[in-house]
Amino acid sequence: MLKKNRLFTPGPTPLLPPAQVAMAAANVHHRTGDFKALLLKTLSDLQTFIGTNHDVLLLSCSGTGAMEASVANLTKAGDKVLVLSAGRFGERWRDLTQTYGCQVELASAPYGQSVALEAVRQRLGVDGNGFRCLYMQATESSTGVRHDVEGVARLVRQANANGGEVLFVVDAITGLGTTRFDVDGWGVDIIIGGSQKALMIPPGLAYLSVSERAWKRMDEPHSPAYYFDLRKERKSAAKGETAYTPAIALVAALAAALDFIAQSAGGDLAAGREALIQTAEISAAMTRAAAQALGLQLYASIPANALTAIVPPKNLDSGLIVKEFRERFDAVVANGQGEMRGKMFRIAHLGYYDYLDAIGIVGAMELVLARVSPAPVELGAGLRAAQECYARMTTPATTCIA
Ligand SMILES: *Cc1c(COP(=O)(O)O)cnc(C)c1O
Repeated sequence: MLKKNRLFTPGPTPLLPPAQVAMAAANVHHRTGDFKALLLKTLSDLQTFIGTNHDVLLLSCSGTGAMEASVANLTKAGDKVLVLSAGRFGERWRDLTQTYGCQVELASAPYGQSVALEAVRQRLGVDGNGFRCLYMQATESSTGVRHDVEGVARLVRQANANGGEVLFVVDAITGLGTTRFDVDGWGVDIIIGGSQKALMIPPGLAYLSVSERAWKRMDEPHSPAYYFDLRKERKSAAKGETAYTPAIALVAALAAALDFIAQSAGGDLAAGREALIQTAEISAAMTRAAAQALGLQLYASIPANALTAIVPPKNLDSGLIVKEFRERFDAVVANGQGEMRGKMFRIAHLGYYDYLDAIGIVGAMELVLARVSPAPVELGAGLRAAQECYARMTTPATTCIA
């Protein structure tokens, strides 16, 4: 049979065709009225997409650039910061804050688990314990775990109500568009997204919202930042500009993607975002139900909607599963990273992804396992579980327990 190449990876994700067309057609200069209008509309749409009234900035870099900006602009060497770490991306916050000379304390959990709120509560104490910032992930893409952003936000608010001065920064690079947040209500000072995840376009743009409290902090001395000077970007953004040459084609693609998301709900972008989140939620539940029906374990104790990390059958390296998906179906799924290599395969449900993708990858998973797994595989068992899950979740007022 012919094969179509498809990405099921937690970034980059499948590209939206109208966004690809917009990108190819973007022959504009960035200091023109046309581009200004495009940028202002995109920033305003991103505010709606994030669900915030805070300022939103767009940076030409991958997601990590916005992470670095939120360390360089908010801290100085010697500042005490708290990092939640339970995977490779939590470790990225740890390494980044250490690079900028922060005094880093960790609230951690083993790979596959979520950081316990109690551990965070202990570190923060009654009054924030002198921590200047708290950095965390909404979803830890290396393990498939969802962290409790709302719960941590509550602890930060409590500490700050008792005299603490903790800024709250969330890497929601795979969280935005898959998870519900109340950014302003919870008091998230900076939330970060990336273009190559739920927004269906290539890597190269990061976006972030910045609270008034975070802007105030930036008036105090902090580490040097030049390309990632957020205050300079804010001044430019107010005029529909960026401080330096932006990734123009990607901005055009992003505008088209946000239009597509809005159009999926009759032009209402916030409703379109909810549809996007539901798609990830249902697809993730279908995948979990299928994996479990096929006798496989999930890697994450509290699984995210963005991706599903699945433990391979005993004595089977997950690399063989990843390879078989690729060779047999040209489907790209992700292996574990670092120490987790060989111990899981990850199927993402991010962005431009629908029922047929979700059910297709489950069907492929059965045939892949039937070929490489030492354990017997009952063809159809995973598909049936996924179908039942879909049927339950799309019937009003019921949910799928998987
Ligand atoms: C993809 C991702 C990032 C950003 O990585 P880049 O390669 O810099 O785009 C950061 N955090 C999480 C949780 C991610 O999934």
